[in-house]
Amino acid sequence: MFEKIALIGIGLIGSSIARAIKEKNLSNHVAISTRSQATLDKAKELELGDSYHPDPTVVVQDADLVIICAPVGAYASISKAIGPHLKEGAIISDVGSVKEHVVKAIGPNLPDNVHFVPGHPISGTENSGPENGFAELFTGKWSILTPIAGTEEKAVEALSDFWKALGSDVEIMTPKHHDMVLAITSHVPHLIAYNIVGTADHLESVTKTEVIKFSAGGFRDFTRIAASDPEMWRDVFLTNKEAVMEMLGRFSEDLSMLQRAVRFGDGEMLEELFTRTRDIRRSIIDAGQETDEQDFGRTPTPNEEK
Ligand code: NAP
Repeated sequence: MFEKIALIGIGLIGSSIARAIKEKNLSNHVAISTRSQATLDKAKELELGDSYHPDPTVVVQDADLVIICAPVGAYASISKAIGPHLKEGAIISDVGSVKEHVVKAIGPNLPDNVHFVPGHPISGTENSGPENGFAELFTGKWSILTPIAGTEEKAVEALSDFWKALGSDVEIMTPKHHDMVLAITSHVPHLIAYNIVGTADHLESVTKTEVIKFSAGGFRDFTRIAASDPEMWRDVFLTNKEAVMEMLGRFSEDLSMLQRAVRFGDGEMLEELFTRTRDIRRSIIDAGQETDEQDFGRTPTPNEEK
């Protein structure tokens, strides 16, 4: 689909894109750049690309598609560096989990003769690094593109076709709307998981060994999310402050209502809410975004089998 694709950052997402490009034969040349020599060597060892260079300005030369796959806090400096070296007519995109910030961080650093189409695949895992990527990561999941006004339609279409070829469904929306939707579907859930695991860590009356020992009661499902990459998630909360604050406000109001229901023994209210939330999970399974295997398809640990 593209003669040469450059990937800057080759962790979970970058390496999954690289694997999918190879598997589906979508480009003749994948050029890879990343910050550390160790990760670049790992990418080479895993044979994720066709050429490797620590300097992003080298890999973007002659690239028809450039995708920045680093944490969003690095986007301004990366785009400033590569801006003058981009091929005329190239499409520049990213995979960052926030979009308004990305538009502001990258946009001003690009020349007028390239097409900037921000993107975000709504798929991932709590694992980081090139060794954890896999070609099927995007299959059956959504990818969101947030083109800015005035972007040529053919560039948006080409990038949309690329994500479809990777196995994704594609939806187009504004950066602002994206940030609101993701605040409630991803960012606030991560904050809640980080918070509950942090609270358990601070408890004194319940020991840490007890928290770990009895975690199958629900706690462990939060720890999966709370194990997500600290640098990536730090950047998400630093760059999507407004939408996260808005959704957190609503969350706190609803939590206060739940608190009241528990305090006053309002069983009717609790049951009504829990029934509605179970329906939401059912809809997610019906939409193919989750498995309905028992226990999330998790193989029981030796202790649970007993
Ligand atoms: P990751 O596995 O931690 O990999 C990050 C990659 O970016 C590594 O290759 C890292 O390089 C590189 N990097 C970090 N800082 C850099 C810098 N200043 N300059 C150049 N490269 C730099 O992260 P990931 O999970 O793939 O996430 C990458 C992006 O995808 C983030 O923007 C995130 O918001 C977005 N995203 C993540 C998920 C998810 O579930 N993880 C889902 C959707 C979107 P070194 O290893 O060489 O230091």
